[in-house]
Amino acid sequence: MAERPLDLHGRPLGVLRLSLTARCNLACPYCCPDLEDPPDLLTLAERVALVEATVGLGVHTLRLTGGEPLLHRRLEELIAALQPLRRRDPGDPRGALREIALTSNGVLLGAERARQLKAAGLDRITLSLDGTDGASVARMAGLGGAAAGDAVLQKVLAAIRHAREAGFDPARGALKLNAVITRSGNADQLLPLAALAREQGLELRLIEFMDVGNRNGWEPEQVLPAAEMVARIGAAWPLEPVGRAPHGTAGRWRYRDRAADAAGADGGAHLAVVASITAPFCGDCNRLRITADGVAYSCLFAADGTDLKPWLRPQPEPGRLRQALEGLWRARRDRWSEERQEAAERRPAPAEMAYLGG
Ligand code: SAM
Repeated sequence: MAERPLDLHGRPLGVLRLSLTARCNLACPYCCPDLEDPPDLLTLAERVALVEATVGLGVHTLRLTGGEPLLHRRLEELIAALQPLRRRDPGDPRGALREIALTSNGVLLGAERARQLKAAGLDRITLSLDGTDGASVARMAGLGGAAAGDAVLQKVLAAIRHAREAGFDPARGALKLNAVITRSGNADQLLPLAALAREQGLELRLIEFMDVGNRNGWEPEQVLPAAEMVARIGAAWPLEPVGRAPHGTAGRWRYRDRAADAAGADGGAHLAVVASITAPFCGDCNRLRITADGVAYSCLFAADGTDLKPWLRPQPEPGRLRQALEGLWRARRDRWSEERQEAAERRPAPAEMAYLGG
């Protein structure tokens, strides 16, 4: 395998989070997505060229995100077009893509769409759901009232069913649930969400409310620390620590009353917490983010991005694109979440979550 670049803290590149649109069909106040996309969205060919270039630099996992990626009409086409990168031998000097994952709110995940995504070659889906009753979902999703929240909840519950039936097996980690928890918004949903995930055999990933962007009104008081989330859930169902995988975002816990089966399948046996605020994990962060209009960010909280369109237009230039991305990665020094803990004053992160995709 060709030599892979390291950044200034010795970190390799491993995960690309590619946002397909900044638009969303929900209006979660902690995220504040846009109603309109930026004018200059990348084309499918440009996205394929970008993924191929990053795979050459070490990316093994691609996460498709947004905004809401299911709003993107050519999602399945993109996934299918990336399959040749998956079929490469792991020792191929051009690199090989091992996994393609999707993060979605699930509202548009009908049975047929789930089957199409599976057929196109998608490996994993993480669905976002912040409550288990209409009023909580409405509050967290920025909807008018409990009835609207309940309609979304029913769609997400159906999406879980459709994804499972299409072959995204939670016992193999191919279907998980994300929930952002804020102190005044949905802290009361911790136990109901954990109960739902356990019942459905899903790993629940609880995310601390992050200060991404400038318009979600982030206040430190609104962050429910991961340790508190674990303590509250552990009081109901005892937990034991499993740890955070190298380069992973989530600390994982195992429910003591649940065990993996003989084949190692463990749906619903784990709880995971993403503690970006209280226990940052910049030290081994291997993620690069690219927005729907082709701006690369080397950190979720980075102040500046690099517009990659000059290397994509009028035609993608693979050699120069690779060089630009490699230069960007080698110059990377971000460890923003750790610096936040050290800094006396909060520096707002200028790019919005809906551009960066989480
Ligand atoms: N629309 C898709 C979804 O809902 O999963 C994908 C994009 S969304 C930006 C990706 C993830 O980021 C979601 O799980 C969402 O809850 C999370 N997220 C958004 N804003 C956040 C914030 N301020 N703090 C923590 N997580 C956030």
